Amino acid sequence: MHEFDIVQNLLKLIKKYAEDNHAATVISVKIKLGRLSGVEPYLLKTAFDTFKENTIANCAELIMDIRDVVIRCNQCNQQSILTEFIFICPICGSIDIETIEGDTMTLETLEMK
Ligand SMILES: [Zn+2]
Repeated sequence: MHEFDIVQNLLKLIKKYAEDNHAATVISVKIKLGRLSGVEPYLLKTAFDTFKENTIANCAELIMDIRDVVIRCNQCNQQSILTEFIFICPICGSIDIETIEGDTMTLETLEMK
């Protein structure tokens, strides 16, 4: 399951930040999760709660900021939120669109002490 790999990489990143900041513990981990990122939030949370044991993040809460998919249309230059995964511009119907948000997962903030 690729959520396991994602969480292991995330925990490595958290460890590095915590060490760089001389933190004793991590309180919360906030991630931005695009609806099109291919990551299943429930599986991610389960994996996080499993793998965080015996790490600096063992008491940390995972907060997921689920983001809509935002596109920009190259025909009419408007930005829109895609409510369904149909890749056409909802304004003019063009298929010449770019995804500008919602297809990635990123670490947003770490609360440490
Ligand atoms: Zn358009």
